[in-house]
Amino acid sequence: RLPVSLQAHPTISASHWVWREVARILHCHPSVHPLASIWNNSKILVGGRPLLWTDWIIAGVLCLRDLFEGEVMRSFSQLQEKFALSSKQFWRFLQLRSSVQSVLRKYPEALHSHSLSVTFQVGFRSGHLASRVYKLLIDPGMGVCLPLQSAWEGDLNYEWQTIWNNCTKASVELKSRLTQFKILHRTYRTPLRLFKAGLVSDSLCWKCRSENGSLLHMLLSCPRITCLWRGVFDRYSLVLGVDIPFSPDI
Ligand SMILES: [Zn+2]
Repeated sequence: RLPVSLQAHPTISASHWVWREVARILHCHPSVHPLASIWNNSKILVGGRPLLWTDWIIAGVLCLRDLFEGEVMRSFSQLQEKFALSSKQFWRFLQLRSSVQSVLRKYPEALHSHSLSVTFQVGFRSGHLASRVYKLLIDPGMGVCLPLQSAWEGDLNYEWQTIWNNCTKASVELKSRLTQFKILHRTYRTPLRLFKAGLVSDSLCWKCRSENGSLLHMLLSCPRITCLWRGVFDRYSLVLGVDIPFSPDI
């Protein structure tokens, strides 16, 4: 929990809420992972209180990962060598080590690299951190998009994992991305959907009035828009010099 004095701060309270939500979605304990701060951490306590040791912070000891070499906790001399801590900090080191060891007994997974930590490390190194985290959150492997994926699989037999992985790469233009997002997330109010919701009197396609207006019909297979798609396929066949048969799968 945030200290009471910070709960009314709009930026800090919103960031805190976002972080906890991200941790919840990705099944990652918000206070116990390699990149969790040692300081003001509600799980790392000495004498029942969280720590805030300025000397250590200035020296660069910030997160749990800084205390470890692989999965083994660094000795005081190793920490001294890496962070130039003074010998006077030895007593504090013993306190911190005892606290961290008790956390590890309770959360043995704390030092394992979670997909979120890996994403942060790659993002810090190569950039695009926000979009990498966003992509991780919408990854169907996390179960977020599974109902959506089964709806698509019922319509089109395709390698959907590849589509989800590439869905942000189709265009740099925002409007096209938004259109693609809406299509992939099946947000369009089709006649069939409106009929099922009791908002219109029949489920027939608005254009041809001969078949049910499902998403696939409205976007691809309605005879009234077939000429458009045939034109697109013909043009691609011409430009690429290969015959691309007309099919919704493509
Ligand atoms: Zn139609």
